[in-house]
Amino acid sequence: MSGQIISGKAISETIKSELQAQVAKLVEQGIKPGLAVIIVGENPASQVYVRNKARTCIQLGMHSEIHELPESTSEEALLQLIADLNQNQSIHGILVQLPLPKHIHEQHVLDAIDPGKDVDGFHPVQVGNMVIGNRSYLPCTPNGVIELLKRSNIEIAGKHAVVVGRSNIVGKPVAMLLLRENATVTICHSRTADLAAITKQADILVVAIGRAEAITAEHIKPGAVVIDVGINRTEDGRLVGDVDFASAQAVSSHITPVPGGVGPMTITMLMFNTLDAARTLNGIV
Ligand code: NDP
Repeated sequence: MSGQIISGKAISETIKSELQAQVAKLVEQGIKPGLAVIIVGENPASQVYVRNKARTCIQLGMHSEIHELPESTSEEALLQLIADLNQNQSIHGILVQLPLPKHIHEQHVLDAIDPGKDVDGFHPVQVGNMVIGNRSYLPCTPNGVIELLKRSNIEIAGKHAVVVGRSNIVGKPVAMLLLRENATVTICHSRTADLAAITKQADILVVAIGRAEAITAEHIKPGAVVIDVGINRTEDGRLVGDVDFASAQAVSSHITPVPGGVGPMTITMLMFNTLDAARTLNGIV
């Protein structure tokens, strides 16, 4: 068996063209979706992510603002900027690029974003709404995983989904969204005894552990669908996932590559949330 490649790059291009048409319609109604991204300090990786977000916004016809603040910015000044953006009518989504400098309390900052503008879906109100199944902005990477499965016509309901990783930004929310889609879900983590025995039961295996190529064919049931969220840079400079692609592809039915799998979906789902926020804040459902 050679697993069919799920191209997040192609799927995200399709979604972006759908979004572009929907943004154009909203602009005709006098509403231009606006996203403000705040970056504190000079982390080079964060700067690349922020520029990509701004570029995608503009490509889709949305308004984009980048607020670049120096490393020395106080928590108070950052909270004031968020308070101003919460009031700003041309801004529908606010995103604070993480990580923040150590002197700033991350949760204080995330909690200060108006939940109605929290397009990252990290505010406790959004998380709570997601868990109880209310309408909310879904966290971008986990929602990207679900969208990849749906758009690849992979049945989720009734399947055993195993998620490896339990972080607040990927593992836990992806497990919750799979549950919402009626999968039977098992969550594994670094303290799981005999990981392979559990992952081998998965019909759908989602891996988000941040360990380069740690999951191999030994962990995968023949015919399983493998979604690799990991992004790791090897010592020789290659970009690889948490799954050993070559061995895993040989046993899986479908598999996401790295790069070009889950990665491109994250920004795309952020754009989806920003459009949704612009509609919702203007009373359009
Ligand atoms: P974290 O480091 O926050 O969490 C890693 C999780 O994996 C933890 O729950 C940890 O368990 C678990 N874990 C670590 N090692 C093992 C192991 N050997 N066996 C089983 N479980 C293990 O990472 P993130 O969730 O933030 O990110 C995971 C990966 O996804 C990273 O490679 C990251 O770069 C990538 N990523 C990709 C995104 C994208 O857009 N494609 C977006 C966000 C992340 P424990 O809780 O017990 O410590």
